[in-house]
Amino acid sequence: MANRTLSRRDFLKGSAAGAAALAAAGILGTAASAEETEEITWDREYDVIVAGAGGTGVCAAAAAKEAGAEKVIVFEKSGIMGGTTNFSGGVMQAAGTKYQKQFSDFQDDTPEKHAAEWIAEGEGYLDEALVTDLANGAPECIDWLADTCGIEWVGVYGHCHVPYVDQSLEADRIHYYKDGGASGSGGIYVQAVWKHAEELGAEVEYNTEVTDLIVIDGKVAGVEITVDGETYKVKANKGVVLATAGIDHNIEMAKALNPQQYWDETEYPASCLCTPTDTGDGIRMGMKIGAAFVGGGCIDFCGKTGAATDNRTPVFPEFIVNKMGQRFVCEDATYAYHYRAIFQQEKTTQAKTWMIFGNGGGSVDQKIANTTEGTTYAWKDEETLNAAIESGELQTADTIEELAEKIGVDPKGLARTLAAWNEDVAAGNPDPFGRRDGLAEIAAPFYAYQNMPFNLGALGGLKITQKCEVVDYAGNVIPGLYAAGLNAGGWVGPYYPGSGTAIIGTCYFGRVAGKAAAENA
Ligand SMILES: Cc1cc2nc3c(=O)[nH]c(=O)nc-3n(C[C@H](O)[C@H](O)[C@H](O)COP(=O)(O)OP(=O)(O)OC[C@H]3O[C@@H](n4cnc5c(N)ncnc54)[C@H](O)[C@@H]3O)c2cc1C
Repeated sequence: MANRTLSRRDFLKGSAAGAAALAAAGILGTAASAEETEEITWDREYDVIVAGAGGTGVCAAAAAKEAGAEKVIVFEKSGIMGGTTNFSGGVMQAAGTKYQKQFSDFQDDTPEKHAAEWIAEGEGYLDEALVTDLANGAPECIDWLADTCGIEWVGVYGHCHVPYVDQSLEADRIHYYKDGGASGSGGIYVQAVWKHAEELGAEVEYNTEVTDLIVIDGKVAGVEITVDGETYKVKANKGVVLATAGIDHNIEMAKALNPQQYWDETEYPASCLCTPTDTGDGIRMGMKIGAAFVGGGCIDFCGKTGAATDNRTPVFPEFIVNKMGQRFVCEDATYAYHYRAIFQQEKTTQAKTWMIFGNGGGSVDQKIANTTEGTTYAWKDEETLNAAIESGELQTADTIEELAEKIGVDPKGLARTLAAWNEDVAAGNPDPFGRRDGLAEIAAPFYAYQNMPFNLGALGGLKITQKCEVVDYAGNVIPGLYAAGLNAGGWVGPYYPGSGTAIIGTCYFGRVAGKAAAENA
């Protein structure tokens, strides 16, 4: 089957087309190898087996132990615990917590509003029951992390807006803990949860790859693992939890299932920041035995400016144009929202898009310093700006037409866009794209940066029930199989709605999956 026959809607709604494409490409392997018909000699036996020791996996293991499973093992493909969760800032969204009241102005926020915002942002593609459960369960996760795992919450902030979503649903909900918030501090969350899981008796084994699911009489009865090139069969008396994240580093699966992820992985491979061991294994293994795939999109952002990553810092006065020199998106909308538009625009026009900025009337040094304080902007001052020009990262010119020529954009179109921008900001007119921040004059000298996504992960995974049971394309539960975190789909996408969504998803769905597996008869 040719991939081009598949529509984006096929994936987001979880049609079987993506699975068929993968099967046709030979990526799933033969179905027969997953179905064991002969008597199996098991090498080992556990109650609950968790594949992957990232945020989701450790939460699943802890919850399985809390729910009374006797023998719980986490198999981890790499040599360390944490996966991409280690690289994260560990920030988590939740509404109505005591910490939100303590650290923000939002005293009356509720999980209902939180769910309503996420659902609106999901553009009709999300499983509303899963999203509602996540919003309702998030505050208890925040408390569990504090009271049971020893996480110390120290602040709360908000994400940037999403145009067309009712503003009254927005609130500061992103919780960060002591020494957290910055990339690389997610390990604090993982270690805190694992300490609790280990105290309850959960085990972990590193350099152990889960390579297949073993199915007996239609039920997932165990897994095949590979250690040092040897394979072993391990029985799961109660259930297997897949927590191996998304198709972050699997070009073939991205091609079949997730066009934006495919764009990132093929055109900007160095900017895919997830752990290299996240190759969509759990999704592949699940689909091989008939599980449905649902969702899509990516967590993309501008790694040079960090534009619109959160509401604490104003977005730099800039606008984004296509090759006709036209704006096409609200630039201060939350990062993955505006980066999805960049992806779509580049695909539609078959040309790169550009961020255009100038000195805004003050010195560049002053302007950039004023608007980048406390952020990770790459061009903080005259020195970094000049270095970027020198390296070719930025193009500069004294007139907008000259800049347009340099970057291959229509000069008349770009000049018209600049004039309209400056007229609107001078007159105080509402921005035509709903932009709220960074509305200031843009004046010579002008600068252009070719947009480049930095990728924090692929969205979309196995379709699950509210108990994280994996289902097939007909909606039937595959007994004994659970999926959570970014290994599961339907609860996040088609673009990432803002920081703290993924990690709260690892905690909430990881715990639901671990508990459900432990309680499976
Ligand atoms: C730089 C960066 C910053 C981010 N910051 C935030 C943030 O602050 N807040 C937020 O909400 N989101 C953030 N994200 C996104 C978030 O970190 C991820 O979406 C999330 O951590 C994924 O968690 P997970 O448990 O699903 O997967 P992971 O944490 O990646 O865990 C999956 C684990 O499975 C293992 N594995 C894979 N295949 C197998 C196999 N076959 N057998 C055994 N083990 C296997 C992997 O080695 C890995 O350890 C960030 C992402 C990045 C890259």
